[in-house]
Amino acid sequence: MAAPTFRAPKGTRDILPPESARRRALVDRFAAAAALSGFGELVSPIFEDLGVFQRIGEATDVVTKEMFDFFDKGDPPQHLALRPELTASVCRAFAEHRPVAPWKVWYEGPQFRYEQPQAGRYRQFTQVGVEVLGTDDPQADVDVIALAARFFESIGLGRVHLSINSLGDATCRPAYLDALTAHFHEHHDRLSAQSQVTLERNPLRVLDSKRPQDQEIIDAAPVMVDFLGADTGAHFDAVRAGLDSLGIGYDISPRLVRGLDYYTRTTFEFAADALESAQNAVGGGGRYDGLVEDLGGPPTPGIGFALGVDRILLACDAEEAFAPPRTAVSVFVVDVTGGGRALDVCERLRGVGIGADRSYGGRSMKAQMKVADRSGARFAVIIGEDEVAAGEVTLRDLRGDGGQRRVAADALVDEVRPPTPLSTIDEDT
Ligand code: AMP
Repeated sequence: MAAPTFRAPKGTRDILPPESARRRALVDRFAAAAALSGFGELVSPIFEDLGVFQRIGEATDVVTKEMFDFFDKGDPPQHLALRPELTASVCRAFAEHRPVAPWKVWYEGPQFRYEQPQAGRYRQFTQVGVEVLGTDDPQADVDVIALAARFFESIGLGRVHLSINSLGDATCRPAYLDALTAHFHEHHDRLSAQSQVTLERNPLRVLDSKRPQDQEIIDAAPVMVDFLGADTGAHFDAVRAGLDSLGIGYDISPRLVRGLDYYTRTTFEFAADALESAQNAVGGGGRYDGLVEDLGGPPTPGIGFALGVDRILLACDAEEAFAPPRTAVSVFVVDVTGGGRALDVCERLRGVGIGADRSYGGRSMKAQMKVADRSGARFAVIIGEDEVAAGEVTLRDLRGDGGQRRVAADALVDEVRPPTPLSTIDEDT
């Protein structure tokens, strides 16, 4: 019987080299940027008690339709779920460990949502993000938004734009929700069937509808920024003033309500104009002043964002930005004397931090040179019987003019070591 063929599950994918190296470099770049802004990494479990994620909001698709949940083998079994996002886990960790506030953490890792897969929308995808817990200073909002904006800039994405909004808070939002609900009820019969259902569950989410039939009614709807109270209004003004002072461009988007229910005050989103508009959100976040408390912690304000790594890389493709890093292998050893010498030379080079690789199986010089050319290495080190007899190796430049010369075997490390300071080795190896 033929063995069954397996494929990666629907909505998931394998990321192979060299794309995986590019993805890793992007995450590393984010980690470095977050560290420069004083964030430490939080590594938390990929699954949590389902209840942690239910705090995100009972009316959101992420919770009601998209959760990968399961029971463990305990007695009684525990109802767990793969994380669909990380803010709830960060707040759970804060409530559990009670670190000194403000607590500034960054994270990276896979998230899981049972969505209908399409370009840029997967069931497993990677996010990087930050959260600041324990301050409601609007300058924290500015700092966090600036970190994301600088990150996009640093990877060469030029066509990303920032939209911001304020969702008010528990004091001023009810009046807005009343006005919004009244408006939608007034035009109820003209709303799409889906939006009529959404309206009953959460009127704010109707603003999210992309269905053409709803647009005129949405455009005429009241906007939250007109209902902000003194506090939330001052907070929003301060965020805008901070962004202005840093020269970070944005537009105010009164319809930006975002998918998750827990946001209060500042919300924001980054969209990549180079991507199709249905999947052009490359990141977003906002302030959530009640989530830690909902998870059993003390009242703690928070602000953060999550960026979608998969989509950022699609945007980079579209803008021809952020090329894969060069291979770490700078020397390819071609040994036509049997292979044992390649073993020694590779080990010697790797031992002093110089990337080295080789072929296996005692192949011909021509075959080995072909692999060397493909490897992306800067040098080929060729070892034949002649070289061995002379205590030398042949060093061939694979990137420049292809010239070659003999060097003493003992001097090889110095010959291939990049002549540049450590900080620029990446470009040179
Ligand atoms: P959210 O947690 O929904 O605010 O999403 C934050 C970012 O994660 C979005 O802006 C996207 O870039 C990315 N993202 C969300 N859902 C998916 C998905 N299903 N597939 C790929 N990326 C996603």
